[in-house]
Amino acid sequence: MLPYGRQTIEDDDIAAVAEALKADFLTTGPTVEAFEVAFAETVGARHAVACSNGTAALHLAMMALDVKPGEAVIAPSITFLATANCARYVGADVVFADVDPDTGLMTPETLAQAIERVGARRLRAVLPVHLRGDACDLPGLEALARDAGAVLVEDAPHALGSTMRFGNAAEIVGDVRHSAMATFSFHPVKTIATGEGGMITTNDPAISARLKVLRSHGMVRPEGCEPWWYEMPEPGFNYRLPDILCALGLSQLKKLPRFAARRRALGAAYAEALAPLAPLVRIAAQPAWSDPVLHLMVALIDFEAAGRSRRDVVEGLKARGVGTQVHYIPVHRQPYYRKLYGELELPGAEAWYARCLSLPLYPGMEDGDVATVAAALKDVLGL
Ligand SMILES: *Cc1c(COP(=O)(O)O)cnc(C)c1O
Repeated sequence: MLPYGRQTIEDDDIAAVAEALKADFLTTGPTVEAFEVAFAETVGARHAVACSNGTAALHLAMMALDVKPGEAVIAPSITFLATANCARYVGADVVFADVDPDTGLMTPETLAQAIERVGARRLRAVLPVHLRGDACDLPGLEALARDAGAVLVEDAPHALGSTMRFGNAAEIVGDVRHSAMATFSFHPVKTIATGEGGMITTNDPAISARLKVLRSHGMVRPEGCEPWWYEMPEPGFNYRLPDILCALGLSQLKKLPRFAARRRALGAAYAEALAPLAPLVRIAAQPAWSDPVLHLMVALIDFEAAGRSRRDVVEGLKARGVGTQVHYIPVHRQPYYRKLYGELELPGAEAWYARCLSLPLYPGMEDGDVATVAAALKDVLGL
């Protein structure tokens, strides 16, 4: 069975974890900072703060910005639940933005529409999601957010290693040139894995310092205080990432160039293998500025024209050893958000959801696997 995504853990990763287990600190030790420094360098940010997972990263970002109850945060509807939920953790309202039906990304147009729906509330943050690995139009989104008095927080778990070019400037996702912060996840299906794990990058030393306080209960040690003393100006959480997992993260991060090259090569192989299935099957569109390391291989399938339900296709592929997943069910449709905000009409998100199906993509796939997936899809669609 080919799953839609899977971690690549090798002997040296295991050895790195074993070393950390024999060392003095299982939780807050020297490997935490080593992982943070290496991560910041990899994505070209000044600071990186490790935390327990990508959801904690988003929650910490909201707290670091001091987003308050009744204020507004804009998130796209096509994303994982956590992008929206983090606003609720701090009592803020989520205003859902629509997405481009072919890229699945929030765009300046869909952000402008969402900003209109903010109404009298104070808009604090806009959370673009680099869905699949393609970067959003960050300069365009940043300009609109700034005019509305808000900052961008990039939810970037799909885009570790992705690069983009706006005008002449070559940029890396996570270098936070257009945003206050970017968040990452090291869940096993993401580009590097620590089991559970997350990271926040920022170029602002004050935000970095605040994130570090908030991830460890809100405890601070004033300069010159007694050795046992600590103070808590405001409560934080225990959102630390242990040394053991940072050792795994550091080991995995060294492999990012190899993992990225493999994902790019598999992406190119899919483009070729799926081309004959057009127009019923198309790979999600790639924006002109984007040079992604794809986390997801999303096929957009016209199920109606093919005369097959998505359920039939998913089950047919499964019977042929091909695992798939749907990224994502529009978050605004979740019962919790429907109850809170009523029915919303976001046609781009609906059009994306109606067609999307994520096919297997991970560095451990064999060269012939892409052809196997394409042949299975062709078969199941009766092409
Ligand atoms: C994975 C993911 C998260 C949450 O990360 P966890 O580490 O699983 O908490 C948030 N947003 C997006 C877009 C993700 O893909």
